[in-house]
Parts: sequence; C-alpha cells; structure tokens
Amino acid sequence: MSKRDYYEILGASRSATQEELKKAYRKLAVKYHPDKNPDDKEAEERFKELGQAYEALSDPQKRAAYDQYGHAAFDGRSRGGGGGGGFHDPFDIFREVFSGGGGGGSGGGSIFEDLFGGGSRRDPNGPQRGADLRYDMEISFEEASLGCEKEIPITKLDACDTCDGSGATPGSRKVNCTACHGKGQIATSRGIFTFSQTCPRCQGTGKIIEKPCQRCQGTGRKEKTTKVRLRIPPGVDTGARIRSTGKGESGVRGGGSGDLYVVIHVRDHEIFEREGDDLVCEVPISFASAALGSEIEVPTLSGKATIRIPAGTQPGSVFRLRGKGVKNVKGYGWGDLHVRVNVEVPTSLNSDQKGKLKAFAETCDARVNPISAGFFDKAKKFFTGS
Ligand SMILES: [Zn+2]
Ligand SMILES: [Zn+2]
Repeated sequence: MSKRDYYEILGASRSATQEELKKAYRKLAVKYHPDKNPDDKEAEERFKELGQAYEALSDPQKRAAYDQYGHAAFDGRSRGGGGGGGFHDPFDIFREVFSGGGGGGSGGGSIFEDLFGGGSRRDPNGPQRGADLRYDMEISFEEASLGCEKEIPITKLDACDTCDGSGATPGSRKVNCTACHGKGQIATSRGIFTFSQTCPRCQGTGKIIEKPCQRCQGTGRKEKTTKVRLRIPPGVDTGARIRSTGKGESGVRGGGSGDLYVVIHVRDHEIFEREGDDLVCEVPISFASAALGSEIEVPTLSGKATIRIPAGTQPGSVFRLRGKGVKNVKGYGWGDLHVRVNVEVPTSLNSDQKGKLKAFAETCDARVNPISAGFFDKAKKFFTGS
C-alpha cells in the first residue's frame, strides 16, 4: 500500500540536479517502456511509477513540496482516483522528455518509432511503384468511330538500358554495405542511449552497388522517350480514358511500374455529329426534289447509301438509317444514322426561271400549299376575333 519514494524509483539521490534526474528517468523509462516489455504487468507499473516520480521531481515547486511533505504533498489530488490521479499520462511524460531537451518539447510521436524500430509506418526506403502518367491524345472522328491503333511517344522515367534498371554497372556486383556491414541497421547514440536506425547508406537493404551505373547515377532510371502502342476501341468519344497497364514510370527498388492513362479528344467532323452512338447528318435537297420526291445519296461512315425522299417532303424531316451509326464502345450493337433534310431555296434565278416560277405560283392554291393556307386562315381569325 505504501508508495515508494520518488528518488528511489528514479534511482537518484536527493541532491540530484534536474539534468541528473532527467538522465535517470530516460534510462529507466526506456528499460520499462511497455513497447519493449509486451504483456509485462510489472514493467508497465514501473513505467507509470517512473512517469509520476519524474513529473513530480522535475517541477521545482512540486519537488520542494515533496522534499518537505513526502507523498502527502500530493494526497489532495491523488486521493479517490484510480491511482495516479492528478498526474499526466506516463506516455506523455515520456514523449516530452525524449522529444527534445527541456520540458514542453514538440511531443511528436515519431520518437517512439525511432527508438523502437517503427513498424507501423510505410517504409520510405522500400520498393516504390512508378508514377501514373496522363497523355492527352487527339484523334479524328473516323478513328474514334471505327477504332484504330496508335503509336504514341511517351517521355518518362524508364528502366535504364545500360544497367537494366539495377543501378549497377554491368558486371559489377552488389556488395555488403560498409556502413552497417550488411545488417541494414546501424546503432546510433542519442544522449546516453544507443538504438538502431535504418542505415542511411544502403537504405536498410544491407547491400550497396559496388560500381554505380554511370548513365543513371545508380538510380536505375533514366528519362527516355519510348513508343507505346495503343488500341483505340471503336465507339470512344471525347473524355474516354484508356489505361495502358504498366506503361507509366518505372518503379524504384523493385517496385512495379505505374500505368499510362490516355485521355481521348475527338476532332469535329465536317458532315457528321455524334449523339451518343447515333450520328446526325444534315443533307440539303432542292425545292424540286422535295416537292417531286427523289432518291438522294447520303454519306455514311462506311460509304454511300441511298434514301428515297417521298414527294412533298418538308424541311427538317428526318430519315433514319438503322445500324449506320457508331458501334457501341461496350459492344452493345450499333447506333443509327439520322439524315435531316434541309430544303434549299433557289437563289440567283435568271429571268426565264423567274417567269416560270411566277406562272407556277399563280396556279398554287390551298391544296398545293396546305401548311401556309392553314396558317393564314388562323391568322385571319386571330385578327378578326371570330
Ligand atoms: Zn543505369
Ligand atoms: Zn547499410
């Protein structure tokens, strides 16, 4: 039940300086840290005790009170708690002491990882995947509709040709790192402690390149322009992304290559417009053809087609050619081609043509021009209010 003496806990004398108390704490706190003593109840208790003892004695005011009254100096605060009431988390004390000289240091958590070999963090010196790349490519309307194969030049960090990506001069070997003697870790002193740290020379691999490749300075990568072949499926449209697996930048230290993403931009077409998988094409026909009816030739992506225009076809009429659109990019059949006819009004008539057209107009009545006749009927009713 009786609490151990704080000086005894720290193994320090009553006349110890602040610096000596801190050293004493550091030494024992590392020894009993729960990370180093998993599932050891006793070590955990010792660690908590150390935190309390150090916290009390590192504060000159509290230390003076303790020197005078012993544990009774803190009784008011600790009574009733589950033990250690009124004291900080022992791990906070630990962080504070180790994170830099005086109290109230920055308290970063990384000190634990440095001290105890990390583990939870991703190893920055391990294999690293190469970066993904984006390439914007413009293709023609026909290429997008029918599909095509493209060869595109990609400039990227690629495996060095000279050393085949190893970073070592051909014929030279990897040898044990001289800094860590092949262990990948080196012992570093911090204050009175020594702990192991990833070897900065070999980056933890334990091996170094005997003769680094001259061409890539031992990195194993070199900027290169290579041709990448790409199959564009029929039916792609602007904004489509095509992934070329493994064609991005080379990885580092054995990491895989990134991917290449090609973003498609489709140029406009002079005749066709896309509406999903359908194509729209506007075809001008003469007034006479529209009135008399005729067969007209229309362009499609796969050549010419003929459609029959019935007599009396109005401007804006749409004729559908089934399956003459674009192949669905996911393979769900083909779209249609919509032909919209636009009736062209004759211009630059000579006097003979004008005469004949006037004679023709005089013969026209509501039967010949039912749409305009109907419209003027409605307009008349509108003005007379009948
Ligand atoms: Zn090289
Ligand atoms: Zn090393």
